[in-house]
Amino acid sequence: MEKRSVLSTIRFIFFSILMLGLIFSAVAITVLNNYKPAVKTYIAGKFIGYFSSEAQFDEAYNDLVTEKQNIDSNVKVYLEEEPVFESSYIRDSLFENQNVYTNLRAEIKTEYTVYEVSVNDKVEMTFNSKDEASKYSESLKEKVSKLNVAINEKKVEELGEITSIERADAILNDIVDRNKPVTIPKPVVTYQNPNNYATTSTNQTASDAIATAAMMEGGVWPTVSRYISSPYGWRWGSMHTGTDIAGKYGDPIYAYKSGLVTFAGWNGSYGYMVKIDHGNGLSTWYAHCSSLNVTAGQEVSQGQVIAAMGSTGWSTGNHVHFETRVNGVHTNSYNFIVGK
Ligand SMILES: [Zn+2]
Repeated sequence: MEKRSVLSTIRFIFFSILMLGLIFSAVAITVLNNYKPAVKTYIAGKFIGYFSSEAQFDEAYNDLVTEKQNIDSNVKVYLEEEPVFESSYIRDSLFENQNVYTNLRAEIKTEYTVYEVSVNDKVEMTFNSKDEASKYSESLKEKVSKLNVAINEKKVEELGEITSIERADAILNDIVDRNKPVTIPKPVVTYQNPNNYATTSTNQTASDAIATAAMMEGGVWPTVSRYISSPYGWRWGSMHTGTDIAGKYGDPIYAYKSGLVTFAGWNGSYGYMVKIDHGNGLSTWYAHCSSLNVTAGQEVSQGQVIAAMGSTGWSTGNHVHFETRVNGVHTNSYNFIVGK
């Protein structure tokens, strides 16, 4: 081989290596500019997103903990499993096009401690501080001595409706009202008997007579469900003035009989309610509705859908409070629907 040819081969190899090196550097610089190191993060096998570092993950997690603590400082925030990090490189733009906060929030577990105040076995108020719960139970016992008031500590995942001071006051007054002895007026009703002897009767007899008449003449069960969750009468020392029929949210509520709507709207502890005057001293009330289909002054026919079932006002679950009033006095409404 000639000396000259060997030299040119060496020169060729040298320049080739130099060129490859330049190309490689150019590619490396481009990649490093557009790609960043990242930690691919999983919790309980679920992909959460890319963080620039584990420290950045901690920062995001602490943000969400603070977010929960702003709602209730006593909350316990935790992840069911430790996060798993995988080193990786990702395109810069990917950092912005991800929902790490949403994904992480979905994995965060919370445990709130609440204090339920129950009055005669019915939960009336829920506080997030034990002090407030005690304060209210004490003031209740002071106002109505016979009440059986208890505080129950409970752990919940979601913080439901917490009773505010104003609302607690309103509830307190309502409980006091409900537990005042109820005096049922007993008007004297005069009947004409076939022999024209005037006889007197208590209101109970009047309502029995109207109930019996309703039995003969019609009237319908006020909703689709037949489950009576609370009957009419005295319970835990207070008077329950209607028959509660529990059902599903939105179930239709039917007019017991044809009549004139005398009230349709919000009425305090009754929530959204409808009152219908059927004549002959009989009115029917339908309370705790989720929505109303009629307005005051409207004539309705028997079985017409007048409202939808709900849990508005003083209510702990979806039901209709069906109340019958005879000459304005509540009577056992069950007598009006039994057998219908
Ligand atoms: Zn009721």
